[in-house]
Amino acid sequence: MEFRLIERIRELTAQPRDDVRLGIGDDAAVLAVPQGQELVVAIDTLVDGVHFPRGTAAIDIGWKALAVNLSDLAAMGASPAWALLALTLPAADPAFVEGFAEGFARLAQPHRLALVGGDTTRGPLCISVAVHGFVPPGQALTRAGARAGDLVLVTGTLGDAAAGLHALQNPLREDDSRASLREFLIARLNQPMPRLAAGTALRGQASACIDISDGLLADLGHLCRASGVGAEIEAALLPRSSALLDLYDVTSALQFALSGGDDYELCFSVPAHRLADVQSDLSRLGCGVTRIGRIVEGDGVRVRGTDGAWLDTDQQGWEHFA
Ligand code: ADP
Ligand code: MG
Repeated sequence: MEFRLIERIRELTAQPRDDVRLGIGDDAAVLAVPQGQELVVAIDTLVDGVHFPRGTAAIDIGWKALAVNLSDLAAMGASPAWALLALTLPAADPAFVEGFAEGFARLAQPHRLALVGGDTTRGPLCISVAVHGFVPPGQALTRAGARAGDLVLVTGTLGDAAAGLHALQNPLREDDSRASLREFLIARLNQPMPRLAAGTALRGQASACIDISDGLLADLGHLCRASGVGAEIEAALLPRSSALLDLYDVTSALQFALSGGDDYELCFSVPAHRLADVQSDLSRLGCGVTRIGRIVEGDGVRVRGTDGAWLDTDQQGWEHFA
């Protein structure tokens, strides 16, 4: 039974690549790192009911398991190539595997990412994906490197995924006219779009970069700590979708944008003189980009409210909101 499931995963995710000398089917994969490239690797695990709500569709789980990993490569400025998949399933459920592999493949294919191996075991639903990508030598983006005076930017909009989770947990009546706005937010939770093109475009431009998985405050905080700097953010500048603003009051929308996880947008710093170039490069890729603040000397992330006063973001309800 297991063999047939693996065979089905192999079929659905098939992706011919010259650098895969040996893929799924042997004891291990054999891969050729292209000459003159550095290998960038990452792994992330999704646990049922922890990293996605119980009852999430298999196709969404397959997409998200890959997306969260590709987002890590995007944050490093790397181009994806290969993945490994460790799948733990409560039962050998062909329908689940079919949906899962379809969601995975739907995201893998446009990036020409090949699934080259993995492991399949029985147990509580849990998925680990490891991804491998390439970057020209020395050009990987890191969390370190932000300097006082740099500007802080983010891609896309913030808070949608956390609002999507809130929407899932607080269902409306089906005939509610706001159903399509909720669908948009829930899709942002279930099928995040890793910012790979933006990540590679930021090589040689961004001084530091991180992807937003735990919320802007938390992840920008990691970037600041790694760089030995602080940041000042303007609440009024935070990019928020019209769906978020239409469905939630101003305070909730701000909390989602500052502390909500799972957006998988990029947050990065650039020297001020590169702002215009970076904005036009990302816009050309169809990637929204917004300046939200600046890097300062010191440490920590401070947020200036629309009234000009600093927000007390240490209080419960900010860091712990999501
Ligand atoms: P082994 O006992 O040698 O580890 P397995 O039966 O676990 O063999 O795996 C057989 C082949 O199928 C290997 O090439 C492995 O990489 C691949 N494989 C197993 N599970 C998965 C999976 N979930 N996704 C992709 N490849 C898998
Ligand atoms: Mg095995």
